Amino acid sequence: MSPPAFDPAHPDDKGAALGGVHIKYLRHCPRQLWLYARGYRPEHRSDLVAFGEVVADTTFTRRREIDLGEAKIDWVTAGAVVHETKSSRTPSPAHAAQVRHYCLLLERRGIAVRGGTVHYPLIRRTTDVPWDEAARAEAEDTEDEARAVIAAATAPPRLARAKCRGCSYLDYCWGD
Ligand code: SF4
Repeated sequence: MSPPAFDPAHPDDKGAALGGVHIKYLRHCPRQLWLYARGYRPEHRSDLVAFGEVVADTTFTRRREIDLGEAKIDWVTAGAVVHETKSSRTPSPAHAAQVRHYCLLLERRGIAVRGGTVHYPLIRRTTDVPWDEAARAEAEDTEDEARAVIAAATAPPRLARAKCRGCSYLDYCWGD
């Protein structure tokens, strides 16, 4: 059975699940994570999100998604190596953080993890994400950071407007 979803009212509940989206949003914008954790879901209105789903669906059609409950991993190869596909043309630390989080979730389920790879089909590039003691510590620190953001009583400040480009929360934050 999957662990329970993260509850902002109980930020110290280490058994509660944080998914890959929590980590991605934390690294993109803490405010985005805070809003997402409170159930605000504007993604269906975002053309960028839809585009990302199309790229993921059409690039590796033979791969099977691994559903951990709190997180969906694009696919895992023997080793185990976690694979994540991004529609972005620009590799980002947020993508590596998401993959490290998946490595952590798999390891907690008793799986020996070797590392991860982020795939960028639009630029035909891959980025390897090592998994070792330092990476594990970083993933655990990132989880703690996400829990602290979610538990905050008020929303973190907005980013500078220029950094909000393409964010699915633009309407909420800027009233566009
Ligand atoms: S619109 Fe900007 S401030 Fe609001 S959640 Fe998105 S990135 Fe953060």
